Order: sequence, then C-alpha cells, then structure tokens
Amino acid sequence: MIKDTDNNWFTEIHSQAGSAFSLQVREKLHDEQSAYQHIEIYATTHFGNLMVIDGCYMLTGLDNFLYHEMMCHPALFTHPDPKRVVIIGGGDCGTLREVLKHPGVEHALQVDIDERVTRLAETYFPELCESNDDPRAELYFGDGIEWMKQAPAGSVDVIIVDSTDPVGPAEGLFTETFFRSCHSALGADGVIVQQSESPLFHYDSIIKPMHKAMRDAGFSDCVTLPFPQPCYPSGWWSATLAGKRPVQEFRTAAAQSKTFTTRYYNAGIHAGALAAPEFFNS
Ligand code: SAM
Repeated sequence: MIKDTDNNWFTEIHSQAGSAFSLQVREKLHDEQSAYQHIEIYATTHFGNLMVIDGCYMLTGLDNFLYHEMMCHPALFTHPDPKRVVIIGGGDCGTLREVLKHPGVEHALQVDIDERVTRLAETYFPELCESNDDPRAELYFGDGIEWMKQAPAGSVDVIIVDSTDPVGPAEGLFTETFFRSCHSALGADGVIVQQSESPLFHYDSIIKPMHKAMRDAGFSDCVTLPFPQPCYPSGWWSATLAGKRPVQEFRTAAAQSKTFTTRYYNAGIHAGALAAPEFFNS
C-alpha cells in the first residue's frame, strides 16, 4: 500500500489489483508512529475525518456505518440470546457502539492491541465513542490472540474480529489456531464474525481459506456476507460468520422489530447478504 498526498489527495494504492481509491483532503490533523503502527488522521472535503493505519484506510466519517453495522448486527441477530460479546480489534469503538444498541447485551469487551487508536478516535470520531461510558462497556488494551488463548471455555456468546488487514499484529487473527481459541471461548450457541476483506479481490486468498480454517477449528457452519464499503479496496467488503450451530438463519422477527436505529442494516439487508454470489459456490 502506498499513500500519496500530492495536490491534497490521499490515495491508497492496492497494487495487487492495480487499483486505488482517493479522497480529497483539507488538512492532516494528526500523524504518529505508535508502538504498533503508523496512524494518520485527515480532514477530507466530503467524507468527514479519515483514519489511516500503515497507509490503509481504516474508516471515514461518511461511510463507516456500513462496516460497523454489518460487523455487528448479523452476528447478534444470529445468536439466539447474545449477552456476552467480545470485540477483538475495533479500537475506533464504532463496532462497540453498535453492539451496545442491543438491549440484551450485558457485557461488551473491546480488546485492541493499540490504545492510541481509541484515544485518537475519542478526539477525531467522538460519535463512535459515545457509548464508551455505558456501564456494560469495557475497554482492554492488549493482544487479542493472547486474550483469546486465556479466555475461560464457554464464557462468550459472540466474538467480533474487527481487525486490520492480515499483516503485522493482525496476521494471527486469520489463523486456525486463533479460531480454535475462539471456538473454545464460545458457548454452545456461539457465533464468531471476522472481517474478511474484498469478495472481488480476496475470495481465493482470504475468504475461502478463512472458511476452511473456521471449519477445521470446529465450527460447523460458516457464511460470508458481502456489503458495500466505498473506502476499502474494490469498494465491496465482507464479514464471515461461523457458528457452532447454523448461521444461515437469524432471528428475523427480532431484526424486523429492532428497538434501535441503524442506517444500513435491517432484516431485508441481512437476508439479502446471505444470498451468496454465484462465484462463492465455485
Ligand atoms: N476493519 C477495519 C479496516 O480493515 O480498516 C479496521 C478497523 S480497527 C481500527 C482495526 C484495529 O485492529 C486496530 O485498532 C488495531 O490496533 C487492531 N488490531 C490489530 N491486530 C490486533 C491484535 N492482534 N489484537 C488486538 N487488536 C488488534
């Protein structure tokens, strides 16, 4: 990934697919090398604030709702009664905010390796952090792989892996070993969801191997839900769900009568995302 801020455009070049995505920026608001990664924040002309980690788009103010809602609600409406949720990564707190919209959730723990991501989100994306003071929320800063290894068996209902791309500290979050730890930490109805990159660019390299790794780790069913995400490579992204029970069905009536607002997710979107594109069956 390469960035180019010439002429006030930030460009993430996705060289593996000969493509790029650019946003016009008004100014750079912050730039730091944390203990784990290079974090930049820009003010853009039309997409609100932009967070970049190691040269890759993380989120923008305009389109993050698509990603955060699809990383949360399909998994929570698939589990029959989610009370204990663990988010691995997700340091911007946007997924945490969505999880806490579910009144039945009793405890939501966010485990991000890099506290700086959260501190910067508090400053530059305060709307995503508005539920951080919810008494059900807990923020822990540490390695999600290590945390999951130590988690008591059957102690979690839903695991959401809201990670960076599978390089650097996030590489191990895409492995069968990690999914085995998750399988052990989850209760009998447990559901895991992992961000699984672009269906267009990464089907063979990431999505298919993720299904295999999840099944080899003991999950009996998995499914990939595509959704639009303009600021990520190809503009089309995905969340892969796996469960100890079938994950192709969800609590449709509960999703239809949800008691909170969303901007993208609804029961129809969820059902539509479960319909696999033809090439997923190849
Ligand atoms: N899905 C978004 C994307 O692809 O652009 C990522 C958003 S979120 C900011 C990703 C977070 O994963 C970062 O805050 C990073 O610190 C965290 N992360 C990476 N590896 C991790 C690990 N091993 N344990 C916990 N958090 C990790």
